[in-house]
Order: sequence, then structure tokens, then C-alpha cells
Amino acid sequence: MNCKDLRDKLYRYFEGLLPNAEEEAIDRHAEACPECAGLLKQWSETTCRDLLDFIDDYVDGTLAESVRTVFERHLAICTQCVDYLDGYRKAIDGARALGKAERAAPPASMPPELIAAILAARKEKRS
Ligand SMILES: [Zn+2]
Ligand SMILES: [Zn+2]
Repeated sequence: MNCKDLRDKLYRYFEGLLPNAEEEAIDRHAEACPECAGLLKQWSETTCRDLLDFIDDYVDGTLAESVRTVFERHLAICTQCVDYLDGYRKAIDGARALGKAERAAPPASMPPELIAAILAARKEKRS
């Protein structure tokens, strides 16, 4: 077990997905390595699950400064959450782009019946 191994396995360690032998190897390494011990401590303060609770507010930019700091500290050590956040942002952007398109006024030349039909079809698709 070296520092990089430990880092790669942290996520599974805290999710309880590692075999006992590997958990022990991590504990043993952390005892001898202050840097990784700090990492373990930091991680145990904020888990990936904690982050998920706040991800909406974080992406919206409405997260309180203090929580944000903790959030970003976790992001700095957790590639899983960085990837997750990335995907989440893309999904939100996609949804927003769609919302905008729906709100945009239809071209003036479109007959009202056609507009009504399109709107009805959209509603049906969503439900
Ligand atoms: Zn280490
Ligand atoms: Zn995480």
C-alpha cells in the first residue's frame, strides 16, 4: 500500500466496499503516514454522501460559504465527486438549454394550430 493506492481506495474504504485485508492495509499505512492520516480524517468529516446532499445548492451557487469550503475541500481529494459534479452540471445545463428553447417564441409564420399541436405533444412527452 502506498499513498496513491490509498487515495484510489478511499472512496471504497468509506463506503465499506473494501475487503477487510485492504481496509487493514489502509489503516496500517495511515498510522505510518501523517499525510494519509490527515486525508482519512478530512474524508471522514465529509463523505461523498454528505456532498450529494448539497450538490444542488453548490451548482446553483447558493451554498453557504462555510459549507462551500468543506465541499471544495472534499472535491480536492475525491475524483469520484469531481466526475459526478461534472456530469451533474452537464445534465443541468442540458435541462436549462431545453427550458430556454421551450420558452422562446415560435416563428411568426407558424400557424396557431401547429403551435398548439406542438405544445400538446411536448406536454404528453413529459408526462
Ligand atoms: Zn501515505
Ligand atoms: Zn467524494
